[in-house]
Amino acid sequence: MNFLTCIECNNTYPLSDPIWRCSCGGLLDIEFEAAFPIKKIAERKPTMWRYREAIPIVEDKNIITFDEGFTPLIPVAFNERSVLVKQDHVFASGSYKDRGATVLISKIKELGISHVIEDSSGNAGCAIAMYCAKANITCDIYVPAKTSPGKLAQIEHYGANVDRIMGSREDCAKAALSAAAGHYYASHSWNPFFFHGTKTFAFEICEQLNWEAPDTVILPVGNGTLLLGAYIGFSELVLAGVIEKIPKLIGVQSTNCAPLYKTIKSDLPEVSRIDPKPTIAEGIAIAEPVRGKQIIKAVKESGGDILVVNDSEIQNSLLSMEKNGFYIEPTSAATTAGVNKYLENRNRNDDDDDELIVSVFTGSGLKYKKMFRKKNND
Ligand SMILES: *Cc1c(COP(=O)(O)O)cnc(C)c1O
Ligand SMILES: [Zn+2]
Repeated sequence: MNFLTCIECNNTYPLSDPIWRCSCGGLLDIEFEAAFPIKKIAERKPTMWRYREAIPIVEDKNIITFDEGFTPLIPVAFNERSVLVKQDHVFASGSYKDRGATVLISKIKELGISHVIEDSSGNAGCAIAMYCAKANITCDIYVPAKTSPGKLAQIEHYGANVDRIMGSREDCAKAALSAAAGHYYASHSWNPFFFHGTKTFAFEICEQLNWEAPDTVILPVGNGTLLLGAYIGFSELVLAGVIEKIPKLIGVQSTNCAPLYKTIKSDLPEVSRIDPKPTIAEGIAIAEPVRGKQIIKAVKESGGDILVVNDSEIQNSLLSMEKNGFYIEPTSAATTAGVNKYLENRNRNDDDDDELIVSVFTGSGLKYKKMFRKKNND
Protein backbone atom coordinates (compact mmCIF):
# COMPACT_ATOMS: atom_id res chain seq x y z
CA MET A 1 0.00 0.00 0.00
CA ASN A 2 2.69 2.50 1.03
CA PHE A 3 5.73 2.84 -1.23
CA LEU A 4 8.22 5.13 -2.98
CA THR A 5 7.37 6.02 -6.56
CA CYS A 6 9.44 7.69 -9.28
CA ILE A 7 7.84 10.75 -10.86
CA GLU A 8 9.70 10.10 -14.14
CA CYS A 9 9.35 6.36 -14.84
CA ASN A 10 6.70 5.28 -12.28
CA ASN A 11 9.00 2.61 -10.88
CA THR A 12 8.14 1.77 -7.26
CA TYR A 13 10.25 0.77 -4.24
CA PRO A 14 9.42 -0.25 -0.68
CA LEU A 15 9.65 2.54 1.92
CA SER A 16 12.37 0.51 3.61
CA ASP A 17 14.80 0.93 0.66
CA PRO A 18 17.68 3.26 1.61
CA ILE A 19 17.41 5.33 -1.56
CA TRP A 20 16.73 8.99 -2.19
CA ARG A 21 16.22 8.84 -5.95
CA CYS A 22 15.16 6.36 -8.60
CA SER A 23 17.71 4.27 -10.48
CA CYS A 24 16.67 6.30 -13.55
CA GLY A 25 17.78 9.45 -11.69
CA GLY A 26 14.21 10.69 -11.20
CA LEU A 27 12.71 12.26 -8.08
CA LEU A 28 10.85 10.01 -5.69
CA ASP A 29 7.47 10.67 -4.10
CA ILE A 30 5.82 8.68 -1.34
CA GLU A 31 2.48 6.97 -1.93
CA PHE A 32 1.08 6.90 1.56
CA GLU A 33 -2.36 6.39 2.99
CA ALA A 34 -2.67 8.83 5.88
CA ALA A 35 -5.30 8.38 8.59
CA PHE A 36 -6.69 11.04 10.92
CA PRO A 37 -8.31 9.63 14.06
CA ILE A 38 -9.60 13.05 15.13
CA LYS A 39 -10.54 12.14 18.71
CA LYS A 40 -7.26 10.42 19.46
CA ILE A 41 -5.32 13.29 17.89
CA ALA A 42 -7.04 15.80 20.18
CA GLU A 43 -5.94 13.86 23.26
CA ARG A 44 -2.26 13.80 22.32
CA LYS A 45 0.59 16.19 23.12
CA PRO A 46 0.51 19.42 21.08
CA THR A 47 3.34 18.51 18.70
CA MET A 48 3.30 17.62 15.00
CA TRP A 49 3.71 13.96 15.95
CA ARG A 50 0.09 13.95 17.14
CA TYR A 51 -0.69 13.10 13.49
CA ARG A 52 1.14 9.84 14.03
CA GLU A 53 -0.99 7.78 11.65
CA ALA A 54 -0.20 10.26 8.88
CA ILE A 55 3.60 10.13 9.17
CA PRO A 56 5.48 7.34 7.33
CA ILE A 57 7.75 6.17 10.15
CA VAL A 58 7.23 2.54 11.12
CA GLU A 59 8.42 2.28 14.71
CA ASP A 60 8.00 4.89 17.45
CA LYS A 61 11.42 4.07 18.84
CA ASN A 62 13.04 5.59 15.76
CA ILE A 63 11.41 8.98 16.18
CA ILE A 64 13.93 11.79 16.73
CA THR A 65 11.96 14.66 18.18
CA PHE A 66 12.22 17.87 20.16
CA ASP A 67 8.42 17.98 20.62
CA GLU A 68 8.27 20.30 17.66
CA GLY A 69 5.26 21.77 15.93
CA PHE A 70 1.68 22.70 16.72
CA THR A 71 2.84 26.30 16.49
CA PRO A 72 0.31 29.03 17.28
CA LEU A 73 -1.94 30.34 14.51
CA ILE A 74 -2.71 33.93 15.43
CA PRO A 75 -4.18 37.07 13.82
CA VAL A 76 -1.62 39.58 12.57
CA ALA A 77 -2.49 43.02 11.18
CA PHE A 78 -1.59 43.74 7.54
CA ASN A 79 -2.57 47.36 6.97
CA GLU A 80 -6.34 47.36 7.48
CA ARG A 81 -6.85 43.64 7.44
CA SER A 82 -6.05 40.82 9.77
CA VAL A 83 -4.59 37.55 8.52
CA LEU A 84 -3.96 34.37 10.50
CA VAL A 85 -0.24 33.65 10.65
CA LYS A 86 1.39 30.38 11.66
CA GLN A 87 4.30 31.12 14.02
CA ASP A 88 6.78 28.74 12.43
CA HIS A 89 9.75 30.97 13.30
CA VAL A 90 9.61 29.63 16.87
CA PHE A 91 10.89 26.12 16.10
CA ALA A 92 13.93 24.87 18.03
CA SER A 93 16.40 25.50 15.20
CA GLY A 94 14.70 28.76 14.21
CA SER A 95 12.65 27.79 11.17
CA TYR A 96 9.86 25.53 9.95
CA LYS A 97 12.54 23.25 8.43
CA ASP A 98 12.37 21.31 11.72
CA ARG A 99 9.07 19.84 10.46
CA GLY A 100 10.86 18.17 7.57
CA ALA A 101 14.02 17.33 9.49
CA THR A 102 12.30 15.47 12.34
CA VAL A 103 10.63 13.09 9.88
CA LEU A 104 13.59 12.72 7.53
CA ILE A 105 16.13 12.07 10.29
CA SER A 106 13.73 9.65 12.02
CA LYS A 107 13.50 7.77 8.73
CA ILE A 108 17.28 7.79 8.36
CA LYS A 109 17.57 6.38 11.87
CA GLU A 110 15.00 3.74 10.92
CA LEU A 111 17.05 2.84 7.84
CA GLY A 112 20.16 2.40 10.00
CA ILE A 113 22.14 5.03 8.09
CA SER A 114 24.95 6.73 10.02
CA HIS A 115 26.32 9.36 7.64
CA VAL A 116 24.38 11.86 5.53
CA ILE A 117 24.97 14.74 3.12
CA GLU A 118 22.86 17.89 2.87
CA ASP A 119 23.19 21.23 1.15
CA SER A 120 21.48 24.36 2.26
CA SER A 121 21.56 28.11 2.15
CA GLY A 122 21.21 27.97 5.92
CA ASN A 123 18.06 26.98 7.76
CA ALA A 124 17.67 23.48 6.33
CA GLY A 125 21.30 22.83 7.24
CA CYS A 126 20.64 24.05 10.79
CA ALA A 127 17.62 21.77 11.15
CA ILE A 128 19.29 18.67 9.67
CA ALA A 129 22.41 19.27 11.80
CA MET A 130 20.34 19.62 14.99
CA TYR A 131 18.42 16.36 14.47
CA CYS A 132 21.55 14.50 13.36
CA ALA A 133 23.22 15.59 16.61
CA LYS A 134 20.36 14.10 18.61
CA ALA A 135 20.34 10.92 16.52
CA ASN A 136 24.13 10.50 16.58
CA ILE A 137 24.34 10.63 12.81
CA THR A 138 27.36 12.19 11.09
CA CYS A 139 26.41 14.93 8.68
CA ASP A 140 28.24 16.97 6.09
CA ILE A 141 26.47 20.20 5.23
CA TYR A 142 27.41 22.01 2.01
CA VAL A 143 26.69 25.72 2.21
CA PRO A 144 27.28 28.62 -0.17
CA ALA A 145 30.31 30.53 1.13
CA LYS A 146 28.21 33.70 1.53
CA THR A 147 25.61 32.15 3.87
CA SER A 148 24.67 34.25 6.94
CA PRO A 149 27.40 33.82 9.61
CA GLY A 150 24.72 33.22 12.26
CA LYS A 151 23.45 30.16 10.39
CA LEU A 152 26.96 28.83 9.78
CA ALA A 153 27.84 29.14 13.46
CA GLN A 154 24.66 27.30 14.42
CA ILE A 155 25.39 24.40 12.04
CA GLU A 156 28.91 24.11 13.45
CA HIS A 157 27.71 24.24 17.06
CA TYR A 158 25.60 21.14 16.48
CA GLY A 159 28.79 19.36 15.44
CA ALA A 160 28.14 19.01 11.72
CA ASN A 161 30.93 19.20 9.16
CA VAL A 162 30.49 22.41 7.18
CA ASP A 163 31.75 22.58 3.61
CA ARG A 164 31.78 26.14 2.29
CA ILE A 165 31.34 26.16 -1.48
CA MET A 166 32.35 29.16 -3.58
CA GLY A 167 29.98 30.24 -6.30
CA SER A 168 26.22 30.12 -6.56
CA ARG A 169 23.57 28.24 -4.58
CA GLU A 170 23.39 25.88 -7.58
CA ASP A 171 27.16 25.20 -7.46
CA CYS A 172 26.66 24.24 -3.83
CA ALA A 173 23.82 21.85 -4.70
CA LYS A 174 25.99 20.27 -7.41
CA ALA A 175 28.87 19.71 -4.97
CA ALA A 176 26.50 18.02 -2.52
CA LEU A 177 24.90 15.94 -5.23
CA SER A 178 28.24 14.50 -6.30
CA ALA A 179 29.26 13.85 -2.68
CA ALA A 180 25.88 12.17 -2.17
CA ALA A 181 26.78 9.53 -4.76
CA GLY A 182 28.54 7.55 -2.04
CA HIS A 183 26.28 8.52 0.88
CA TYR A 184 22.63 9.02 1.71
CA TYR A 185 21.41 12.42 0.58
CA ALA A 186 19.33 14.04 3.33
CA SER A 187 18.30 16.72 0.91
CA HIS A 188 15.29 18.86 1.72
CA SER A 189 14.54 19.26 -1.97
CA TRP A 190 15.22 15.70 -3.23
CA ASN A 191 14.29 13.52 -0.30
CA PRO A 192 10.53 12.84 -0.18
CA PHE A 193 10.48 12.16 3.57
CA PHE A 194 11.23 15.83 4.25
CA PHE A 195 7.93 16.77 2.57
CA HIS A 196 6.07 14.25 4.71
CA GLY A 197 7.19 16.34 7.66
CA THR A 198 6.44 19.78 6.23
CA LYS A 199 2.95 18.54 5.33
CA THR A 200 2.03 18.71 9.04
CA PHE A 201 1.82 22.48 8.48
CA ALA A 202 -1.48 21.79 6.67
CA PHE A 203 -2.74 19.37 9.33
CA GLU A 204 -2.13 21.88 12.11
CA ILE A 205 -3.83 24.72 10.27
CA CYS A 206 -6.94 22.62 9.67
CA GLU A 207 -7.07 21.32 13.23
CA GLN A 208 -6.60 24.86 14.58
CA LEU A 209 -9.54 25.95 12.41
CA ASN A 210 -11.67 23.14 13.85
CA TRP A 211 -10.87 20.80 10.99
CA GLU A 212 -11.83 23.29 8.31
CA ALA A 213 -9.56 24.36 5.49
CA PRO A 214 -8.81 28.05 4.92
CA ASP A 215 -9.66 29.54 1.51
CA THR A 216 -6.16 30.75 0.76
CA VAL A 217 -2.66 30.02 2.04
CA ILE A 218 0.15 32.45 1.22
CA LEU A 219 3.62 30.99 1.59
CA PRO A 220 7.18 31.35 0.31
CA VAL A 221 8.48 29.32 -2.59
CA GLY A 222 12.07 28.57 -3.55
CA ASN A 223 12.51 24.80 -3.56
CA GLY A 224 8.91 24.52 -2.40
CA THR A 225 9.52 22.45 0.73
CA LEU A 226 6.70 24.23 2.53
CA LEU A 227 4.46 24.77 -0.49
CA LEU A 228 4.65 21.16 -1.69
CA GLY A 229 4.40 19.93 1.88
CA ALA A 230 1.23 22.00 2.33
CA TYR A 231 -0.12 20.62 -0.94
CA ILE A 232 0.56 17.02 0.14
CA GLY A 233 -0.96 17.68 3.57
CA PHE A 234 -4.15 19.29 2.28
CA SER A 235 -4.47 16.58 -0.40
CA GLU A 236 -4.24 13.85 2.24
CA LEU A 237 -6.92 15.58 4.31
CA VAL A 238 -9.17 15.76 1.24
CA LEU A 239 -8.53 12.11 0.43
CA ALA A 240 -9.35 11.09 4.01
CA GLY A 241 -12.60 13.08 3.83
CA VAL A 242 -11.60 15.52 6.58
CA ILE A 243 -11.81 18.66 4.42
CA GLU A 244 -13.54 19.27 1.10
CA LYS A 245 -10.93 21.00 -0.98
CA ILE A 246 -7.34 22.16 -1.15
CA PRO A 247 -7.00 25.89 -0.39
CA LYS A 248 -5.71 28.27 -3.02
CA LEU A 249 -1.92 28.15 -2.68
CA ILE A 250 -0.20 31.49 -3.32
CA GLY A 251 3.58 31.16 -3.63
CA VAL A 252 5.83 34.17 -3.08
CA GLN A 253 9.18 34.58 -4.84
CA SER A 254 11.78 37.34 -4.88
CA THR A 255 11.68 39.50 -8.02
CA ASN A 256 15.45 38.94 -8.32
CA CYS A 257 15.14 35.16 -8.44
CA ALA A 258 11.74 34.10 -9.75
CA PRO A 259 11.91 31.11 -12.10
CA LEU A 260 8.51 29.78 -11.02
CA TYR A 261 6.82 33.15 -11.42
CA LYS A 262 8.20 33.41 -14.94
CA THR A 263 7.09 29.87 -15.77
CA ILE A 264 3.53 30.33 -14.58
CA LYS A 265 3.08 33.81 -16.07
CA SER A 266 4.34 32.70 -19.50
CA ASP A 267 2.62 29.31 -19.17
CA LEU A 268 5.83 27.49 -20.10
CA PRO A 269 5.96 23.66 -20.18
CA GLU A 270 9.35 23.53 -18.42
CA VAL A 271 10.66 25.62 -15.52
CA SER A 272 12.28 28.60 -17.17
CA ARG A 273 15.96 29.38 -16.90
CA ILE A 274 16.65 32.71 -15.31
CA ASP A 275 19.57 34.93 -14.57
CA PRO A 276 19.36 35.29 -10.77
CA LYS A 277 20.33 38.52 -9.04
CA PRO A 278 21.17 38.83 -5.34
CA THR A 279 18.27 39.30 -2.91
CA ILE A 280 17.97 39.72 0.86
CA ALA A 281 15.52 36.81 0.76
CA GLU A 282 18.42 34.33 0.70
CA GLY A 283 16.27 31.36 1.76
CA ILE A 284 14.15 31.45 -1.40
CA ALA A 285 16.90 32.46 -3.85
CA ILE A 286 16.63 29.19 -5.75
CA ALA A 287 17.25 29.57 -9.49
CA GLU A 288 16.76 25.90 -10.40
CA PRO A 289 14.17 24.30 -8.10
CA VAL A 290 14.45 20.53 -8.61
CA ARG A 291 10.74 20.05 -7.97
CA GLY A 292 9.78 23.08 -10.05
CA LYS A 293 7.32 21.25 -12.28
CA GLN A 294 5.57 19.72 -9.28
CA ILE A 295 5.28 23.15 -7.66
CA ILE A 296 3.67 24.68 -10.75
CA LYS A 297 1.24 21.77 -10.98
CA ALA A 298 0.30 22.04 -7.28
CA VAL A 299 -0.25 25.80 -7.50
CA LYS A 300 -2.39 25.51 -10.63
CA GLU A 301 -4.42 22.60 -9.31
CA SER A 302 -5.23 24.56 -6.15
CA GLY A 303 -6.45 27.53 -8.20
CA GLY A 304 -3.58 29.56 -6.76
CA ASP A 305 -0.86 31.73 -8.20
CA ILE A 306 2.74 32.87 -7.79
CA LEU A 307 3.62 36.48 -7.10
CA VAL A 308 6.85 38.40 -6.68
CA VAL A 309 8.11 41.02 -4.22
CA ASN A 310 11.23 43.17 -4.48
CA ASP A 311 13.88 43.81 -1.83
CA SER A 312 12.50 47.18 -0.82
CA GLU A 313 9.02 45.72 -0.28
CA ILE A 314 10.64 42.95 1.77
CA GLN A 315 12.57 45.45 3.92
CA ASN A 316 9.48 47.53 4.59
CA SER A 317 7.45 44.51 5.56
CA LEU A 318 10.28 43.21 7.76
CA LEU A 319 10.52 46.44 9.72
CA SER A 320 6.77 46.60 10.12
CA MET A 321 6.51 42.99 11.36
CA GLU A 322 9.39 43.54 13.80
CA LYS A 323 7.68 46.57 15.29
CA ASN A 324 4.61 44.42 15.80
CA GLY A 325 6.66 41.99 17.87
CA PHE A 326 7.54 39.45 15.23
CA TYR A 327 11.32 39.27 14.82
CA ILE A 328 11.54 37.35 11.55
CA GLU A 329 14.27 37.04 8.92
CA PRO A 330 14.18 38.79 5.52
CA THR A 331 13.25 35.57 3.67
CA SER A 332 10.27 35.29 5.96
CA ALA A 333 9.39 38.94 5.31
CA ALA A 334 9.21 38.15 1.59
CA THR A 335 6.09 36.18 2.43
CA THR A 336 4.59 38.95 4.55
CA ALA A 337 5.34 41.42 1.75
CA GLY A 338 3.55 38.91 -0.48
CA VAL A 339 0.53 38.99 1.82
CA ASN A 340 0.39 42.78 1.42
CA LYS A 341 0.63 42.44 -2.35
CA TYR A 342 -2.02 39.75 -2.47
CA LEU A 343 -4.40 41.90 -0.41
CA GLU A 344 -3.76 44.96 -2.60
CA ASN A 345 -4.41 43.06 -5.83
CA ARG A 346 -7.45 41.44 -4.36
CA ASN A 347 -8.98 44.66 -3.09
CA ARG A 348 -8.69 46.10 -6.53
CA ASN A 349 -10.55 43.15 -8.03
CA ASP A 350 -13.24 42.28 -5.55
CA ASP A 351 -14.37 42.88 -2.00
CA ASP A 352 -15.04 39.36 -0.83
CA ASP A 353 -13.90 39.77 2.74
CA ASP A 354 -15.13 36.39 3.89
CA GLU A 355 -11.95 34.96 2.43
CA LEU A 356 -10.11 33.07 5.17
CA ILE A 357 -6.42 33.71 4.53
CA VAL A 358 -3.57 31.98 6.34
CA SER A 359 0.12 32.80 6.04
CA VAL A 360 3.31 31.93 7.88
CA PHE A 361 6.40 33.31 9.59
CA THR A 362 8.98 30.81 8.33
CA GLY A 363 12.16 31.83 10.14
CA SER A 364 13.51 33.71 13.14
CA GLY A 365 15.35 36.98 12.59
CA LEU A 366 17.88 36.35 15.32
CA LYS A 367 20.38 34.66 12.98
CA TYR A 368 20.46 37.56 10.59
CA LYS A 369 23.18 40.09 11.37
CA LYS A 370 23.01 42.67 8.59
CA MET A 371 21.50 46.08 9.15
CA PHE A 372 19.65 47.94 6.51
CA ARG A 373 17.77 50.57 8.39
CA LYS A 374 19.32 54.01 7.85
CA LYS A 375 19.26 56.35 10.87
CA ASN A 376 17.95 59.28 8.86
CA ASN A 377 14.97 57.24 7.69
CA ASP A 378 12.83 58.15 10.66
C1 LIG B 1 13.64 27.35 3.51
C2 LIG B 1 12.97 28.61 3.81
C3 LIG B 1 11.95 29.15 2.98
C4 LIG B 1 11.50 28.59 1.67
O1 LIG B 1 11.68 27.29 1.44
P1 LIG B 1 11.76 26.58 0.05
O2 LIG B 1 11.77 25.18 0.39
O3 LIG B 1 13.02 26.98 -0.66
O4 LIG B 1 10.55 26.96 -0.76
C5 LIG B 1 11.34 30.29 3.42
N1 LIG B 1 11.69 30.93 4.54
C6 LIG B 1 12.66 30.46 5.33
C7 LIG B 1 13.02 31.22 6.57
C8 LIG B 1 13.34 29.30 5.00
O5 LIG B 1 14.30 28.85 5.80
ZN1 LIG C 1 12.58 6.42 -12.35
